Amino acid sequence: MNKIFLKRGKDDSLRRFHPWIFSGAIHHTSAQPEEGETVEVYTAENEYIATGHYQIGSIMVRVLTFDHEPIDQQFYERKLATALDVRRSIGLAPRPNGQPTDGRMTNAFRLVHGEGDNLPGLVIDIYGKTAVMQAHSVGMHTDRHLIAAALQKVMDGAVENIFYKSETTLPYKAELGQENAFLLGGSTDDIAMENGLRFHVDWLRGQKTGFFVDQRENRSLLEHYSKGRKVLNMFCYTGGFSFYAMRGGAQLVHSVDSSQKAIDLTNANVQLNFPADPRHEAFAEDAFRFLDHIETPYDLIILDPPAFAKHKDALHNALKGYIRLNRKAFEKIQPGGILFTFSCSQAVNKDQFRTAVFTAAAAAGRKVRILHQLHQPADHPVNIYHPEGEYLKGLVLYVE
Ligand code: SAH
Repeated sequence: MNKIFLKRGKDDSLRRFHPWIFSGAIHHTSAQPEEGETVEVYTAENEYIATGHYQIGSIMVRVLTFDHEPIDQQFYERKLATALDVRRSIGLAPRPNGQPTDGRMTNAFRLVHGEGDNLPGLVIDIYGKTAVMQAHSVGMHTDRHLIAAALQKVMDGAVENIFYKSETTLPYKAELGQENAFLLGGSTDDIAMENGLRFHVDWLRGQKTGFFVDQRENRSLLEHYSKGRKVLNMFCYTGGFSFYAMRGGAQLVHSVDSSQKAIDLTNANVQLNFPADPRHEAFAEDAFRFLDHIETPYDLIILDPPAFAKHKDALHNALKGYIRLNRKAFEKIQPGGILFTFSCSQAVNKDQFRTAVFTAAAAAGRKVRILHQLHQPADHPVNIYHPEGEYLKGLVLYVE
């Protein structure tokens, strides 16, 4: 196995279990490792400190373990078993004796959340009997078959299909033969459930793993605010917030997304839960343009845009984007209205986002109270040594 030697003093963050090694920390390597290869990391004093996946880029090693142990199928089985135990503790994953979860009727959840589960570069979402696995690093791509075998064993019959989806998540230049393919089973038609509401999961063509399970609790909260309201769900994607609003007793629900595919998914999901319900209408249109031409007096608006900043250098423009978007919503929402506003940009922290929303409210001249401060759910845990894993933030606001 290739070895990586750090520069003197560059082991501090690793002693605090931070899972990334940047290229600038590396003194030399024993030979030239291949991308995706598992490497052992040593301090300048030749002391073993970690094992991880090597990749060319600013993060050169993603640490899998700080214990001197082989990265084999058993390793992944141990990690996945812990991840599963966490989801059982939350009440999301089925118990080993087949007992149902706590009765909330949810079979869609995140089983592995990258660094949050000490598996940097790996995401696994479970939708009923199907697992959708995404590699965000070359190393996880290289190990995909090992991981799939470990997953099958740990889930012990609870998973019949494993769909591997890495076409859009791996560095393009790596030329690895990125693929979207079933590693187990082959179901293409699945309906999953969240808090008793059903939705189609399009893991073949959908974004990310097919559905955003990270908004589960926030959608649930929205349901309780929906009664009698006129709801506008911006950036609706699969319409998650929309069908919760309908169950909550909304007077009307309008869903907007610039992608026609997303609008089709939203209509299909609404149809699944509330067939032929005239309260819902969906529009394939740009969010900013839609907000400019609003005629309906909405009193509950959801803004859940895609990540405006994918990198730190895009931060300034991202903040401007959040200000512009939220300002439009503040200008249009009815007095006594409720605004659910989110940011899923990792590069934008909680305070920066709140300042952007504050700036937007002030510019629109509205009086605003913060009712709730929202974040990612427990199945998207944050590794305490890796605060960068905190990405989803939201505010629920009362607009006077
Ligand atoms: N709220 C969704 C997730 C939103 S993902 C949920 O609960 O699952 C972001 C969505 O924004 C994507 O579906 C994307 O198509 C859409 N989008 C991106 N840019 C847009 C724009 N300018 N106007 C409207 N929708 C946009």
